[in-house]
Amino acid sequence: MEALVPGEVVCVVGRITTVGSRRLRGRRTLVTALLDDGTGTIQLVWFNQPWVERRISRGDEIRAIGPVGRYGTRLQIAPTDFETMDPGSGEEPPEVLPVYPLTENVSQKALRAWTRAALDRLGPVEDPLPRRLLEEHGLPPLSRALFDLHWPATPLDRDRARRRFVWEEFFWWELRLALKAVARRRPEAGIAMGTEGDLVPRLGRSLPFDLTAAQRRVLLEIFRDMRRSRPMSRLLQGDVGSGKTIVALLALLRAVESGVQGALMAPTEILAEQHARNVGALLETAGLVERDVSVALLTGSVTGRAREPILAGLAEGTIDVAIGTHALIQSGVDFRRLGLAIVDEQHRFGVAQRLALTRKGGLEEAVEASAATGVPDVLVMTATPIPRSLALTFYGDLDVSRLDELPPGRRPVKTHVLGESRREDLYAFLGARLAAGEQGYVVYPLVEESEAMDLKDATSGYEALAARFPDARVALVHGRLSSEAKDRVMREFAAGEVDLLVATTVIEVGVDVPGATFMVIEHAERFGLSQLHQLRGRVGRGEKPARCFLMVSPDAGYAARDRVGVIARTHDGFVIAEEDLRLRGQGDVFGTRQHGVPDFRIADVERDVDHLARARAAAFAVADADPGLERPEHRGLREKLARLAERDADLVRQG
Ligand code: ADP
Ligand code: MG
Repeated sequence: MEALVPGEVVCVVGRITTVGSRRLRGRRTLVTALLDDGTGTIQLVWFNQPWVERRISRGDEIRAIGPVGRYGTRLQIAPTDFETMDPGSGEEPPEVLPVYPLTENVSQKALRAWTRAALDRLGPVEDPLPRRLLEEHGLPPLSRALFDLHWPATPLDRDRARRRFVWEEFFWWELRLALKAVARRRPEAGIAMGTEGDLVPRLGRSLPFDLTAAQRRVLLEIFRDMRRSRPMSRLLQGDVGSGKTIVALLALLRAVESGVQGALMAPTEILAEQHARNVGALLETAGLVERDVSVALLTGSVTGRAREPILAGLAEGTIDVAIGTHALIQSGVDFRRLGLAIVDEQHRFGVAQRLALTRKGGLEEAVEASAATGVPDVLVMTATPIPRSLALTFYGDLDVSRLDELPPGRRPVKTHVLGESRREDLYAFLGARLAAGEQGYVVYPLVEESEAMDLKDATSGYEALAARFPDARVALVHGRLSSEAKDRVMREFAAGEVDLLVATTVIEVGVDVPGATFMVIEHAERFGLSQLHQLRGRVGRGEKPARCFLMVSPDAGYAARDRVGVIARTHDGFVIAEEDLRLRGQGDVFGTRQHGVPDFRIADVERDVDHLARARAAAFAVADADPGLERPEHRGLREKLARLAERDADLVRQG
């Protein structure tokens, strides 16, 4: 009894020493009983279940299941289920008993009896998993696991059974990913890009800084993949400012040295232009001219007369590197020989859209279009640090590289969590910064369902700020503007023609404006931690120290404030992502609940992440060794996948 912890659901067995009932206010009844388990007594309570008093009497042996609660200083249990045990049967209660979720009129005892009967009738079942996998991973066979899940002899047996189902659940998901990945990445399908020319070393030598250890490591991983004729599918994760662009450019140059073309695709025109400018500047410092590497920018606004020579250059191969938007993968854009496609997503898309982008809308088309000349290597870059568990599930078919180190000398953005009472202080601070000629952002959340309301928030915020700082040039940018109008405002901000930019969404702030030294985030509690971190990464990119203010609404509550506070304490995007996931769960963090992301029934991607990693490795080993699942020992796998595919088709049909 000493071991009871409030809030836990427990099963207690003991003898009833007293039973009684009384009336509470409002015609409610309370039945109470004392249970003695030999080590002490505990009170059992039932609200509004007067019949309980007739079912138990003093001296009965009973088993009760329910949550432990606290009443004053005493602990009590409010059983959700209980049963009296046969007196004097002398039967020892089993060590472990399952607790099933119940519905009305079904007791634990009945359900246990039914599962037992069902298991007895079931007899041996064929195990879809090959024996070798079971042995390698220490998993019980299916029949045994089924039985042990309901009637384990020991807690160890129960845990082993559970482990099998967890492992299996991951395995089926990963096996499907693995088979797809292996099919796309047939060893001979790609282009081996292993020529070590002088482009990469020349650029490397001209850089005004040393690459970080993480950048070197990641480049080696990418170059190793590129040398192989097996097409690369790699995800490069790197926090904002970790230096992904230079990694991308070096990889593109390696492709060019190897005699093929490269492409760098960004989600918006303004980002594509920014990349083109950066790449141009880097090549220039390296003394690499048009003749060495020819780069072209292709976006939707490159039209007519300007577009034609670019399309021709790509088709003839006189353009080595194309930088652009989705315009790059539209029909009519043909490469002579595309060897490397890099997608920079700038945290623009949700996970699911990102998947769709790489699988359907984007890369797969590019891949198919160029199948005749070899499947290009694909590198997806993201500034969203993704916890390991999610990387393994969402990006299960990609290899992952991490830039987990920022270039030296970065000054972390000082971050403050403020309540409404500090708004005047904040405005005084902003006034001083603006007077000193600095720029900054004020960001409002945008929740799709209430877009109109959010817009109103931002608009009135904008008006208030414009009135408050009459000498500053204040602009408003939001999702309802046309993309031209948005781009225009962003350009003005980047050019220093706007001082204070009020924005409703994260989309428009994906731009590098080194002059921006402060950011105010309104209703910070309505953002995810990772999102806040991304936003904050937009300031502090220049020489001057930068600050970020997280405004928390008065009605947000302590928990929300605490959560937001994590951002003030750490600048490590991976730590923040893990924390976000821990606090909110994967569906909330990544907005994936409705997006066909695996909805595991037994497994839990966080708790069981080690099983996930092992199941993934096993799945890829199977897919590599036997991509058609043709071996006799893989017949069970093949049949199970067919059944899963049928089930999915059914689900789709049912909508
Ligand atoms: P992100 O990963 O967010 O795309 P960028 O590639 O834009 O980051 O790099 C951010 C800034 O850091 C750029 O100004 C870039 O020149 C600089 N940078 C990149 N690598 C290094 C390095 N190893 N040392 C110092 N500065 C670096
Ligand atoms: Mg970048």
